[in-house]
Amino acid sequence: MKKGLRKVGERVRRLVVIGVCLVLLQGCTEAIRKRSDIYPIRKVTVTTIAGRNVSCEDAGGLYVKTNEYLEPQVGIVLYQEVCADTDVKMPSDFMDAMNRLYQEYPEPGTNMVIWLDRDTGELIKRGLLKLLMIPQPQAAIDDVYRRYIVMRGLDPIVLLHEIGHAFIFSHTHSEKGVMKGVGIQLFPGTPAISSGTFCEEDRDEIIRNKFRDFSKKVKLGK
Ligand SMILES: [Zn+2]
Repeated sequence: MKKGLRKVGERVRRLVVIGVCLVLLQGCTEAIRKRSDIYPIRKVTVTTIAGRNVSCEDAGGLYVKTNEYLEPQVGIVLYQEVCADTDVKMPSDFMDAMNRLYQEYPEPGTNMVIWLDRDTGELIKRGLLKLLMIPQPQAAIDDVYRRYIVMRGLDPIVLLHEIGHAFIFSHTHSEKGVMKGVGIQLFPGTPAISSGTFCEEDRDEIIRNKFRDFSKKVKLGK
């Protein structure tokens, strides 16, 4: 068990690195064609860990907003099935936060587990870092199951990007659209990805993997 956890830790460490670097860039077409293959709709159940300054209502509102982008494009909706409050401060290192989440919820009864945190003091600190142009990751997803998300703040585009990672395994980031590796979601100091749109290739892959089993480890592309 211990060994397994360490393994997750190692994988997560790799994830955090990926989150900050642009490793695999997928070519991408922006033109969005209408498609009917978003049906049937996949309902993704979520356990929320509502951290500091986040209520379960806040989390529900975030999922509703995220679904406004998610459902029409790929036919996936997030559904908050369980929500638990916590006063635990999210570790500043996402890898630590991720390991903590995994240890608490090794077998969640839902498809995904999302820990949301919003610390006002931290926001000020992050504002300063932004002024200094130091990139501050806002969210991360694990690289083993692609089901554990840790996130600071309540930006639906940030969550949309992470949900994209839960269904795209062939590459990490794309040249265009929501899955672009650098953008507001990862680096608050840079211009926003305003569209909230997946490029066509990313939509194809998300739809292909739409009914994936979250309890199975994912096989990632190189
Ligand atoms: Zn990413």
